[in-house]
Amino acid sequence: MKLGILTILLLLNVSLKSSELNIYTHRHYEADKILYDKFFNLTGIKINVIKGSADQLMERLLKEGENTPADILITVDAGRLHRAKNLNILQSVETNKLRLNVPVNLRDPDGYWYGLTIRARVIIYSKERVNVDDLSSYEDLASPKWKGKILSRSSSNIYNQSLMASIIESNGSNNAYLWAKNVRDNMARAPRGNDRDQIRAVANGIGDLAIVNTYYVGKMKNSIDIKDKELIEKVNVFFPNQNDRGTHINVSGAGVVRYSKNKNNAIKFLEFLTSDEVQKIFAEINYEYPLNFSNNQSKLLESWGIFKYDKVNLSVLGEKNNEAVKIFDRAGWE
Ligand code: FE
Repeated sequence: MKLGILTILLLLNVSLKSSELNIYTHRHYEADKILYDKFFNLTGIKINVIKGSADQLMERLLKEGENTPADILITVDAGRLHRAKNLNILQSVETNKLRLNVPVNLRDPDGYWYGLTIRARVIIYSKERVNVDDLSSYEDLASPKWKGKILSRSSSNIYNQSLMASIIESNGSNNAYLWAKNVRDNMARAPRGNDRDQIRAVANGIGDLAIVNTYYVGKMKNSIDIKDKELIEKVNVFFPNQNDRGTHINVSGAGVVRYSKNKNNAIKFLEFLTSDEVQKIFAEINYEYPLNFSNNQSKLLESWGIFKYDKVNLSVLGEKNNEAVKIFDRAGWE
């Protein structure tokens, strides 16, 4: 049988297409490229990356609908992943491997998204001015003893909204409201800047404590900015709520796009990223914790010690996001 040149081209095109994977990601780490190359060498699947902010990418997925080239959305915060699920831009996938690799509290119960790495939202404190024995829990930040000492970014930020959602879940809406109001009253200045700015402000003596994600400490320690490297030495990390529910954590995560044309490749990639072998390097790229702490190979993270974390199913953070935003507004935490 003779194959026409057209048929050959057609087959070639089909086979090329089936070995592709298009990722929409907010991540922009040089080191991610190493993972993409590793995946290619393992599977022959070529990865194309489109970068953008999380909100840009989600809007783009909405607009593109079934014409989207995207197969996977990678973003941070369970609150945001939940939003993507609700916007109907993801689809449910489930495999035995994914169920094994990703602990049940770190993935969507319906398989719309899976956690990839863990970050803890901790208290960082001035080594000079704070006695670590005076620290205990998020709740304690509402105590009058911290008047004028606390720093935090705005409540419009998803990290704070997810922390608030976890407090609503644990303590109820009214207590969560009182907490936000009192913590706001204790602030050294009105919320502004990002997590790194809060760390800098503590180091510079504007306040004594700040609520930040762990990996920013790693980023500053390893920064090319000499000033940041100096400042980070003036603070320590504290894991709150070790005597009760544990420290609030969140994930970076990913879901398969609803109109993915390469669904099987997308699933393979999720399985790859969550596998023990890749977790050992993947989490460390951004100073995050692997899904399974026993895969942690970061000396820095090890130096902070092991900690107990809040085991609430992270999908709750998404479900309670609206309420969290409303409570912050009512409490005057801008
Ligand atoms: Fe961040």
